[in-house]
Amino acid sequence: CGICGVVGHRPATPIVFEGLRRLEYRGYDSSGIATVEHGRISRRRAAGKLDNLGKALKEAPLSGTTAIGHTRWATHGAPTATNAHPHKVGKVAIVHNGIIENFLDLKKTLESKGRHFETETDSEAVAHLLDEHVQQGMAPKEAAFATIRHLQGAYAIAMIFEGHDDLLIGARHGAPLAIGYGNGEMFLGSDSLALAPLSNRITYLEDGDWCVLTNDHVEIMDGQGNVVERPVQTTALTT
Ligand code: GLU
Repeated sequence: CGICGVVGHRPATPIVFEGLRRLEYRGYDSSGIATVEHGRISRRRAAGKLDNLGKALKEAPLSGTTAIGHTRWATHGAPTATNAHPHKVGKVAIVHNGIIENFLDLKKTLESKGRHFETETDSEAVAHLLDEHVQQGMAPKEAAFATIRHLQGAYAIAMIFEGHDDLLIGARHGAPLAIGYGNGEMFLGSDSLALAPLSNRITYLEDGDWCVLTNDHVEIMDGQGNVVERPVQTTALTT
């Protein structure tokens, strides 16, 4: 339902947590955040209110300067902590808004390769597919493109990768996703409100677009993998 992500230089969890707060108005049933630090991905998730995630983070803080967060509105699988995003599989973690229509086919193929699914969500298939490509030796960017080419349905997705502290990849098709430009940091949000206090320069991805973000660089590709230019809109900074 809601996505917020950052790749930057300061503690990422509070930035993403506050971003999720601003997305609360959209409704949600569970939430979670994952970071990558020293090459390792860690995550916290909770059913129910964002305060429950806040409590989990207080008990076991998540450090790192790159993070993805999600407020979930369950479509496939009960609103439990296990089904909450981010989904972490092998060397990757993802958050997903929307519905992957062909997830059962993807799941069947991935299970036949010996993969075990932990959740009832459609989204977990994206994490497995992405990890499958990484385990085959693809670089993150290549793996992301190979993955989204297999997806049918509506999605906005944010991805992070083990071994890559300074990397955040986003993709959208039929669900909104925007890039916020910062100073030595870049943001992803499913809604301009998620980005509003963080950046006054925003690019709305077009359908089929995907992007590779580092703390000081943005690259946007279309669905064919061609690098494209998208307009940067200047908005009022609100606090
Ligand atoms: N279909 C996904 C799920 O049920 C994502 C739902 C959402 O957009 O929050 O987990």
